[in-house]
Amino acid sequence: MVSRVIPVEAFDLVIFGGTGDLARRKILPGLFRRYCAGQMPENSRVIGAARGDMDNDGYRAFVAEAVREFGGRRSCEDGTLDGFLERMAFVSIDARGEKGWSEMAELMRPDVVRAFYFSVAPSLFGDLAERLNQHGLTDDSSRIVVEKPFGRDLDSARALNRDLAAYFDEGQIYRIDHYLGKETVQNLMAVRFGNMLFEPLWNSQYVDHIQITVAETVGVGGRGEYYDKSGAMRDMVQNHLMQLLCLIAMEPPSKFDPDAVRDEKLKVIRALDPVEPHHIVRGQYDATEGAESYREEVGDPRSRTESYIAMKLGISNWRWAGTPFYLRTGKRLKARSSEITIVFKELNHSIFGEAGDHRNELSIRLQPNEGIELGVTIKEPGPGGMRLINVPLDMSFAQALGADAEDPPDAYERLIMDVIRGNQTLFMRGDEVEAAWAWTDPIINGWDARGDVPKTYESGSEGPVDAVQLLARDTRVWRKVSP
Ligand code: NAD
Repeated sequence: MVSRVIPVEAFDLVIFGGTGDLARRKILPGLFRRYCAGQMPENSRVIGAARGDMDNDGYRAFVAEAVREFGGRRSCEDGTLDGFLERMAFVSIDARGEKGWSEMAELMRPDVVRAFYFSVAPSLFGDLAERLNQHGLTDDSSRIVVEKPFGRDLDSARALNRDLAAYFDEGQIYRIDHYLGKETVQNLMAVRFGNMLFEPLWNSQYVDHIQITVAETVGVGGRGEYYDKSGAMRDMVQNHLMQLLCLIAMEPPSKFDPDAVRDEKLKVIRALDPVEPHHIVRGQYDATEGAESYREEVGDPRSRTESYIAMKLGISNWRWAGTPFYLRTGKRLKARSSEITIVFKELNHSIFGEAGDHRNELSIRLQPNEGIELGVTIKEPGPGGMRLINVPLDMSFAQALGADAEDPPDAYERLIMDVIRGNQTLFMRGDEVEAAWAWTDPIINGWDARGDVPKTYESGSEGPVDAVQLLARDTRVWRKVSP
């Protein structure tokens, strides 16, 4: 299969924080892969902007190293890297001072798309927005991209939204949640709204429950200081899992356009029930041979931050009342695996009696091995009567679509190109983020007020035993976390 590369307009992309970890691991290698795919027009440029003294050549060496280390498998012709590096420039800048701004103003060109990626701490978002405006670097068609975390509660998210809204319209602000850029997440929408098969069944009449799992094998590692102030609820649930939940639960938008999709997602967040404390399990990983415990890693023997969370959610609307959503995410678990599973109800009458399991499950795997699997009931082959078994109709993208799907564009590449195209469908709107915090805040405040202590769980396990109980109470089971 030959992939279709849709050309974008020429651009100047400024990466504030262009020497940071995110730029090195994701943004720059992602741009290089788009360049290799022929999607970066001739006269486009990438301008790294960060603290510290570096000249253009120094930055090109930095970018070359980042591409070599994180560029991925996609093959590029010899000499391609040189062509990419020619498009790089660097400005040493201070977001909070005057250094570098007039130099940047001289570099920017008229008549190309201007995008400014704020890959810096959120405490600098307001300063950058103000200085961009002060130095006349933006106009109505300029775009800004902001990274997570977008606030740590409703008040701070509102303050960030206000800081940005002082200089930019909502239509210019691209809040990244890289989960929305994943191939399978978009496929979730294609499966739901591109087939007659599923949507008629996509409601509480036919769906027993839904599971969303994002399991990681890694611990907090070098991010301990940041993570300990955040925890799984702020770091994963409020943004990534909430976005996945919205895409599964939303009503069909009238068209695939940014506001139609985001209006429907917002309605889901607003319809979420408050969560009962006994419907949440918080966990923290313990030490195992050769690996430190969470508390050792973050250097606080009394830390009460959760590295794992499982919860049961209800949505109070006509489509979903009565169908629970079970969410779980955690670090140092048995396998790295992210998937969404729609578990359909049992047949209300089986003509085969007790001959087998009749339940259908639709599983959407985000990673690894992106794909979709539908469990269907068939007759077990061979003699011996009508014995039924459940077998997967499995569509691995890599198998079905060949080489293109084996190395699909990384979420960041896709999202950056969407910024250049001016398409906000896969970015969070300000009101969505605020609604998600408005739902999250009372839960976190409740833990703080009660002095809630997370349960410990063994590293390399499937999480705390209480999470198993959470479903067992409803006579349900989690899907196995397997790679
Ligand atoms: P980092 O600490 O590695 O890099 C920070 C960058 O900001 C550096 O280039 C530094 O020079 C620049 N900077 C700092 N102060 C500045 C100032 N006053 N003026 C101009 N530049 C300044 O950070 P990072 O890990 O690259 O993260 C950047 C942002 O992306 C953060 O908001 C982070 O939360 C978010 N994020 C990072 C990751 C990741 O994997 N690293 C993932 C998701 C979100």
